[in-house]
Amino acid sequence: MFDMTVLKHYSIALPSGLTTDKSKEKFMEMLLWFASAIGLSWFMAYTRASLSTYTLSFTILMVIGSVFQLVSFTGWLVFALIATPLNVASFRKEYITKPLLKMFKGIMPEMSQTEKEAIDAGTTWFDADLFRGNPDWNKLHNFPKPRLSAEEQAFLDGPVEVVCQMTDEWETTHERADLSPEVWQYLKDNKFFAMIIKKKYGGLEFSAYAQSRVLQKLTTVGSTLASTVGVPNSLGPGELLQHYGTKEQQDYYLPRLVNGKEIPCFALTSPEAGSDAGAIPDFGVVCKGEFEGKEVLGMRLTWDKRYITLAPVATVLGLAFKLQDPDGLLGEEKDLGITCALIPTDLEGVKVGRRHFPLNVTFQNGPTQGKDIFVPLDYIIGGPEMAGQGWRMLVECLSVGRAITLPSTSAGGIKTVALATGAYSRIRRQFKLPIGKMEGVEEALARIGGNAYMMDAVTTMSTGAIDLGEKPSVISAIAKYHLTEKMRSCVTDSMDIHGGKGICMGPNNYLARAYQGAPVAITVEGANILTRSMIIYGQGAIRCHPYVLAELEAAGNDNFEEALNNFDHALFGHIGFATSNILRSLWMSLTGSRLVGAPFNDPTKRYYQLMTRFSTNLAMLSDIAMLTLGGDLKRKERISARLGDILSHLYLASATLKRYNDEGRQVEDLPLLQWAVEDSLYEIQKAIDELIANFPNKFVGIALRAIILPFGTWLTKPSDKTDHKVARILQTPSETRNRIGQGQYLKREEGNIVGQLEQTLDDILAAEPIFDKVCQAVNQKLPFYRLNEVADIGLEANAINESEAQLLRKAELGRKAAIDVDDFDSIDLAANKSLFEKIKKSQEHAA
Ligand SMILES: Cc1cc2nc3c(=O)[nH]c(=O)nc-3n(C[C@H](O)[C@H](O)[C@H](O)COP(=O)(O)OP(=O)(O)OC[C@H]3O[C@@H](n4cnc5c(N)ncnc54)[C@H](O)[C@@H]3O)c2cc1C
Repeated sequence: MFDMTVLKHYSIALPSGLTTDKSKEKFMEMLLWFASAIGLSWFMAYTRASLSTYTLSFTILMVIGSVFQLVSFTGWLVFALIATPLNVASFRKEYITKPLLKMFKGIMPEMSQTEKEAIDAGTTWFDADLFRGNPDWNKLHNFPKPRLSAEEQAFLDGPVEVVCQMTDEWETTHERADLSPEVWQYLKDNKFFAMIIKKKYGGLEFSAYAQSRVLQKLTTVGSTLASTVGVPNSLGPGELLQHYGTKEQQDYYLPRLVNGKEIPCFALTSPEAGSDAGAIPDFGVVCKGEFEGKEVLGMRLTWDKRYITLAPVATVLGLAFKLQDPDGLLGEEKDLGITCALIPTDLEGVKVGRRHFPLNVTFQNGPTQGKDIFVPLDYIIGGPEMAGQGWRMLVECLSVGRAITLPSTSAGGIKTVALATGAYSRIRRQFKLPIGKMEGVEEALARIGGNAYMMDAVTTMSTGAIDLGEKPSVISAIAKYHLTEKMRSCVTDSMDIHGGKGICMGPNNYLARAYQGAPVAITVEGANILTRSMIIYGQGAIRCHPYVLAELEAAGNDNFEEALNNFDHALFGHIGFATSNILRSLWMSLTGSRLVGAPFNDPTKRYYQLMTRFSTNLAMLSDIAMLTLGGDLKRKERISARLGDILSHLYLASATLKRYNDEGRQVEDLPLLQWAVEDSLYEIQKAIDELIANFPNKFVGIALRAIILPFGTWLTKPSDKTDHKVARILQTPSETRNRIGQGQYLKREEGNIVGQLEQTLDDILAAEPIFDKVCQAVNQKLPFYRLNEVADIGLEANAINESEAQLLRKAELGRKAAIDVDDFDSIDLAANKSLFEKIKKSQEHAA
């Protein structure tokens, strides 16, 4: 039955009591049977087998054990005692599920209506796969790559380029504190504010991907232009009307929004309610009143809003307020809840016009107030039946809009910054070397290059999801948070690389306004600390988890029978899922996840293996956190934030791998992919390590570490070698470099500083060998400046020809423009010029 010499060979000691060969053989059979039982359990759990498959497999194993007289009657009794209650539904529900359901109801975290609506809004997509511990990488790569239609491409090549040419960022931000009237008119005439509006109303009806590309390109010339276009196409009257408006409202407003007759804004935030927008104190009271000479059923509105983008120039105000019906004119409900209405700003008593000054990014933004203003109920978006539906409307629209505007402007900004910084680093020399060749600068350049590659990947994949019909609420929060954060850190890196050139403001500074404006993107559409601490994981855990939402819904179901059935199904699925994730995590830790399958057998293989491992770890950590912390998890924001970080970085890295694949797996792009994915993997490991170290229950923390990080942390940040390769890519013209800046406004023409910088990079690279020729001819190491003089020396020494001399002169002009900064007369910098003149005169007088 069993060859005992094998054991001797491996020096396995047998218990001393086993004296005969027969008893030894029996012992070995028993050992083998137990090993099979453990292996089977492991396999079943690893592959997430159902309870019935589990039971059937073990029954077969028990029968085999009985045939070989290894399983006694007691063994069958124990098996029956475990298997019967689990498999006999009525017994299981009565004696296991019911008490657990009662306990669950007791500890279930309380959820406000606004939280519930926020969680219900939107859909899940590949985020759910990443959350569930076993992502299907082929599914990721099979999602179609988003593409532009001919019409969308023509818009990008036509009107978008024209408005980029027309916009002067210095004039906009410093001299006018607004876009020029010509730019405003051009935007209206060319339907820039109607990208989301359907064709039947005259709008452009662009895909989410096309909108993203437009915003990215506009960001090349400045964030005032991009924000002005972004906001009406994001959450606001246009979006709300199309989804929820009555036919009359749609027919009236949408064509007017398309042709620019109406400028919309959306007013939710008030001084008392910023992040906690559900707590707005602004209110409306349903009552009868006179409107345009007739008595109608309406509401009296009072509001005090601030930070409202486009409010100072808006003609129609999308207003969020809480509607009350104390006299029961609409029904029995007295507090109807958050409601959205469209209020014409020329209505008597509506205050708009004053402006805030958001960090020198001078898009129109300001407060609005109204007191006791009577409007008909027809002003509610969707009419009176949509009273009280405002919050749901907002969160549903936000689940889409948040994935487009801010992620796109952030990605567009950094794509431009990446090229400009790469070019500048190659042009600017110190210590007789281009600064981009210095290792310290390479480190910062690599962060910019790797992130630019990833950020573009994330906007493409997220907008692609929207175009596939998703409303990806978790993904939109991930994209908003991480891309605005990456934008802020990359702009800071770029400022450091530019030194004084970045700091001195003026028409030639292409960086400082982005640096100033970075916190605006961090703050709006869900301030970032809140987004990371609550929204990403808070929504992710409930929406992406395969069983938690079903458990919560069952626990909240007043029909006990139905609740019990649903809870029973979810609970046992959940137990199997959780057990599987623990065993999978341990297995992958012990094997270093090297046995995990990957869709490609190339340098990316390891990334897929590690991401599957971390995805499993996330699923496990999530369950353990929910099980041990229960409702407290909501308040343990730092635990929630770190779980969210794991999910986020899995998503960011997935988008990057998808981009690499969609672009034809270009080997030259590999350093960019490696930088981005390795950075994310490192961040995931850090989040896991910190989470375990800070886990509220220390014993659980120790157990988690033993399962997930038994050999400690091992991943490092991208290597110096990878940094070096990415830095080189940014400084050397190539197809790979072009792909980083794809779609940006880089025309090499007068007035486009970044385009001119691109030209100068080419010129400098072409000038360098000519410069070397001159140095060789005169046997002298000349400094790499005053290249026009170097040209003269070269001509005189007959070392170069006239066209080479011309190239040196051209390179010098570009080089000087690239390194020069602006200077001003004092009066030009004074905001209050008359005060300045007065002081100057009195000083002259005194002198
Ligand atoms: C330039 C600009 C344009 C805007 N445009 C519009 C617009 O068009 N329409 C509109 O309605 N609103 C608009 N807003 C409002 C914007 O969406 C809010 O400012 C934002 O939601 C934050 O509110 P707050 O500034 O009052 O910060 P607060 O809510 O006071 O928050 C302060 C800090 O506390 C953090 N925080 C709050 N709660 C939590 C929590 N539970 N956990 C962890 N951290 C938390 C936040 O993340 C933030 O860091 C705009 C704001 C600005 C600055």
